[in-house]
Amino acid sequence: MSAVPSSLAPPVRVLLGPGPSDTPPAVLQALGKPTVGHLDPYYLAIMDELQQMLRQLYRTQNALTMAISGTGSAGQEATVANLVEPGDAVLVGVNGVFGGRLADMAERAGGEVTRVERPWGEVFRPDDLKEPLARVKPKVVAIVMAETSTGAWQPIEEISQLVHDAGALLLVDTVTALGGISVEVDAWQIDAVYSGSQKCLSCPPGLAPVSFSPAAVEKIMNRKAKVRSWYLDVSLLASYWGENRVYHHTAPINMTYALHEAVRLILAEGLDTCFARHRRHHEALAAGLASLGIRFLAEEGHRLPQLNAVSIPSGVDDGFVRSELLRRFGIEIGGGLGQFKGQAWRIGLMGHSARPNNVLLLLAALEELLAEQGHAFEHGAGIAAANAVYSRA
Ligand SMILES: *Cc1c(COP(=O)(O)O)cnc(C)c1O
Repeated sequence: MSAVPSSLAPPVRVLLGPGPSDTPPAVLQALGKPTVGHLDPYYLAIMDELQQMLRQLYRTQNALTMAISGTGSAGQEATVANLVEPGDAVLVGVNGVFGGRLADMAERAGGEVTRVERPWGEVFRPDDLKEPLARVKPKVVAIVMAETSTGAWQPIEEISQLVHDAGALLLVDTVTALGGISVEVDAWQIDAVYSGSQKCLSCPPGLAPVSFSPAAVEKIMNRKAKVRSWYLDVSLLASYWGENRVYHHTAPINMTYALHEAVRLILAEGLDTCFARHRRHHEALAAGLASLGIRFLAEEGHRLPQLNAVSIPSGVDDGFVRSELLRRFGIEIGGGLGQFKGQAWRIGLMGHSARPNNVLLLLAALEELLAEQGHAFEHGAGIAAANAVYSRA
């Protein structure tokens, strides 16, 4: 017998977890187009188009807007490592796993980090930041807009002025936000922002869109010490993405095709239409879950439409439900992270996954599994409640 494995035949899943999300066929087809060189005139034109589309997506005029090779965490590390210099005071909002990761990265970059904390599921109010800003006098304030571990939606605009009045630059994680809810980089004066391709952009994982304001670029260009990461040094990357086209590393050509197509589809739909679609399916799902007696973890008024973090009803086995969803129905949802491990389900309705058939399929499958687990609810109530939302004008 041959020792060579058979060729790949991945199952077709319904991806309703915290990412990756379902990928539209056109995006997968883009991945399979002919590979050209990373300095081929065709590829350089695609890079320019992608940069222009990313500016539209982020609603910014920032010249330094590009896609970092790597997943969302690479974008996170690129913004943190470039903006934070050794000895810089850095204030980080921590109300979930990803705020914690920001603080860790800022420390690795040599920052003197102060964490401001809120209970998981809650968000920061301007008053939470006033005292620490005055005390710490940070050079950089870092915060997560869409905290994927809790489903909490952090308002950015209302804290931006405070941060700038205190003389700091504002760094925002929009990995789960971008493409699902409005991100206004220029209007909100965000100085450094990053995202990932596999959440609401519905592209496979592997690229991280980032953007830097002129003030952030000025801080980066005047650093005393080199960025500790060569690969993520934005001043080197800017020479490749800018007019000089200086070779830095071999770009992931076919991933760039895929992201180009994914962002193109979102812009063709229209950003506001796309956000409204996320809201609508969230409302249908939330109505369905409520009628099954399932509670949201994030505070009311601050729930992300694209990431529905809910508490697992008591008496229901987390492992059973998630593994049977996958085995019998082909549906993936996420479990709890960090302090929510074993207590939460995270249901993503991100990008191409935010469709009525997914909401109704998940509710039908959940009703079946919850009934098997002895959870009490009125049979059919979840689907009926979701359909009632869909039948509204
Ligand atoms: C997923 C995620 C990240 C990390 O992105 P990867 O693509 O997994 O590296 C960072 N921040 C938030 C808020 C995320 O949801």
